[in-house]
Amino acid sequence: MWFDYLVWGWIAIAVITFMFLLKIKQPYGRHTTDGWGMMVNNNWGWFWMELPALIVMPVLALTGPTELQLPQLIIVALWSIHYINRTLIFPFRLKTKGKKMPLSIVLSAVFFNGINGFVNGYFLGHLSEGNSGLSWTLFLGVALFFLGMVINQRSDNHLLNLRKENTGYAIPRAGLFNWISCPNYFGEIIEWTGFAIAAASLPAASFAIWTAANLIPRALNHHDWYQEKFEDYPKDRKAVIPYLV
Ligand code: NDP
Repeated sequence: MWFDYLVWGWIAIAVITFMFLLKIKQPYGRHTTDGWGMMVNNNWGWFWMELPALIVMPVLALTGPTELQLPQLIIVALWSIHYINRTLIFPFRLKTKGKKMPLSIVLSAVFFNGINGFVNGYFLGHLSEGNSGLSWTLFLGVALFFLGMVINQRSDNHLLNLRKENTGYAIPRAGLFNWISCPNYFGEIIEWTGFAIAAASLPAASFAIWTAANLIPRALNHHDWYQEKFEDYPKDRKAVIPYLV
């Protein structure tokens, strides 16, 4: 069926993107460089990047012909909780005064979030059967989702607080930062893995794969950058998965 082909193709693009990002740094934040075309305000860039995800998935899920039952409504709620923060709150808490990001990054993220929102929302609202059974995988997935969200937000908060006192970069030393350089990414990967388990659908799995494909290379870049920038950077820290990567 066309939808399955679309999502499998989307997963294949994630794998190709992963290999590409192992070679090319995503040019935003500390890795921003010239040569990526027009630049836009960093905070508003974040807002516009995430907006399609906030709107497209819930609208398609809730307006489709499938009558959503509690498990599907939980999935829409998890998504909405995440994207209300990521779109409407997080961008305006960033302490990146005067910083800009390439418009090309914003447009590629708008494209990504549009497709990701489409496949997840269309599946729920138009293709799923609206099953009302509460499975153990739903509970496990929801628990993992919130565990990941707490790790992600606590770590992002720590970074934002570091920036409050210091307009540059400092070595983060709280909590999971003692094990890995990017616990915010580790939390985000756990979050969307939990979402995929809870939703038990191919589109949700594709988002978990995309998240890892985006964030593991970026964490490796951050880790190298920290080691180059700070002579006293802790030697035993890994990049994104404690003891492993
Ligand atoms: P970063 O960790 O690169 O940066 C987060 C914020 O903290 C930025 O404002 C950054 O400033 C600042 N910061 C980072 N490190 C330090 C430091 N050592 N000292 C002081 N300030 C610091 O995260 P991203 O910007 O890449 O991502 C932000 C959020 O979006 C994360 O929660 C991430 O998980 C999520 N995300 C999710 C994706 C997905 O595919 N699901 C994809 C991309 C991001 P500056 O910008 O100036 O470097």
